[in-house]
Amino acid sequence: MTRTDSSASGAPGAADATNANANANAFARLPLSPAMQATLQQLGYLSMTPIQAASLPLSLAGRDLIAQAKTGSGKTASFTLPLLANLNPRRFAVQALVLCPTRELADQVTQEIRRLARAEDNIKTLTLCGGAPIRNQLASLAHGAHIVVGTPGRILDHLSRDTLSLEALNTLVLDEADRMLDMGFAEDIAQVVQACPRNRQTLLFSATYPDGVASMAARFMRDPQEVKLTERH
Ligand code: ADP
Ligand code: MG
Repeated sequence: MTRTDSSASGAPGAADATNANANANAFARLPLSPAMQATLQQLGYLSMTPIQAASLPLSLAGRDLIAQAKTGSGKTASFTLPLLANLNPRRFAVQALVLCPTRELADQVTQEIRRLARAEDNIKTLTLCGGAPIRNQLASLAHGAHIVVGTPGRILDHLSRDTLSLEALNTLVLDEADRMLDMGFAEDIAQVVQACPRNRQTLLFSATYPDGVASMAARFMRDPQEVKLTERH
């Protein structure tokens, strides 16, 4: 997405791409480390997209969050920045889990996390999805990871084999929650959440907000803040 795209995404409050607007949405006003600010600049992330501007002040303050915005609006960075802020790179244990509906989306999320985490040498992100050989995943898990991205069924599979522990988890992300429910993952997700510590930050992202997503949020989240950016017609 280009800078122009991000400010033209039709969300309330998204004005023309004037300098004043770009400054108001500058990442510099967020409580991020200098290393993260530098990474964002290197990636050409000059101003926040509307969903990032609306959600990051809340998520970086540790709040649970329900965020709704259309595809292509920059939701991945919206959960990756708080996830990385919660992470202790010196603790080599799974501290963040991102659940995605498909392998393709999980791969995209992993790529974006690796890009945003590149200032830290040693953050390891692992993708665990169905359809990929479990043998290779077992070998990778034996080496450990800080962040796991995967599909609910395969994550549950690893939890039941005891090849994945979520005891050190502090951030749980449900990405594309509406699609995960459409694909019949509700029960798998519930079981994965059971394996997560209660004391965690939960971030839910979705392009739409049907009843199923609302009731999932009510079950799994702690006093969540809602940020909804719907299209203006
Ligand atoms: P979504 O998950 O909402 O569909 P993505 O997180 O995949 O959207 O982001 C879409 C594209 O926008 C990606 O290529 C990403 O690198 C880019 N992007 C995200 N945030 C910004 C930003 N603040 N400035 C410029 N590009 C961005
Ligand atoms: Mg996305």
